[in-house]
Amino acid sequence: VTEHPWREFNRTNVYMSDLESALHFSLRVELASHATINKGALTALKRYVSVLAKYFPGRPVVRNLLQTANAWLNGLQDSELQYNSFLEVLNNATEDAVLPHGERWVGCQGSQPHFRKYPCSMWTLFHALTVAANSASDSRPQEVLQAMRIYVKKFFGCHECASHFEGMAQESMNQVKTQSEAVLWLWSRHNRVNNRLAGDLSEDPNFPKIQWPPPELCPKCHGIDNGEHSWQEPEVLSFLMDYYSYSKILDNYLQ
Ligand code: FAD
Repeated sequence: VTEHPWREFNRTNVYMSDLESALHFSLRVELASHATINKGALTALKRYVSVLAKYFPGRPVVRNLLQTANAWLNGLQDSELQYNSFLEVLNNATEDAVLPHGERWVGCQGSQPHFRKYPCSMWTLFHALTVAANSASDSRPQEVLQAMRIYVKKFFGCHECASHFEGMAQESMNQVKTQSEAVLWLWSRHNRVNNRLAGDLSEDPNFPKIQWPPPELCPKCHGIDNGEHSWQEPEVLSFLMDYYSYSKILDNYLQ
């Protein structure tokens, strides 16, 4: 295997190439180990593709393919799906609809091949989806969170991650009442994961696990309350709404 050259990138931006690589990896690699998908797994897949079709903040051609895949899943008569038939739909590229092939990590590159990549891109995708849903008028507050929760539970290849995430979901996901709360719920749980993993073997030394966003990225997000650090949540929310918005996502290195 030839290692690709390092792709220069700005650490303070989100890259579309990571989001498209997340779609490729989850839909063509992670799902592919399930030859037959039925029952709860089929529901999980349908709900995941449904939120992707509604909110993926991507190129129109990619959004079109996701909408085609969603319509196809919704039209299924059987209670069971052969993964290969779904793959055909994903691979049926037209001039107007395509799901790009392959992994091209940019903001999710790691300093060693086993660091970052897909798990990094799934966090990025999930944040971007909660932000996009918060900008839409017709979304239900827990729609995106619950869809990612069951996707992770049924399909995410890291089982330890899935059980930790499910634990956090059981604790408090049901209390989310608005779209803005959904954005902040995911942000704060991601920080809990960062806190737990800081110093772990899985941590890329060039990308230390920090409580995010750091003051350099968002000075207003940080405050002091009774001598202790306190997050300024309204500032965090507006920061996230900007950082993960479609108009801020960079197109470098797209195929
Ligand atoms: P990541 O944590 O993947 O973050 C990606 C990018 O998101 C960062 O570079 C930063 O730009 C941004 N970001 C960071 N924090 C926040 C935040 N709070 N809010 C918004 N944006 C932020 N690994 C384990 O070893 N054990 C686990 O239990 C585990 N659970 C996981 C659960 C889920 C649902 C997912 C998707 C991944 C999980 N992982 C777990 C993987 C782990 O969290 C990291 O994704 C992986 O170690 C790569 O880390 P990273 O440095 O790329 O940063």
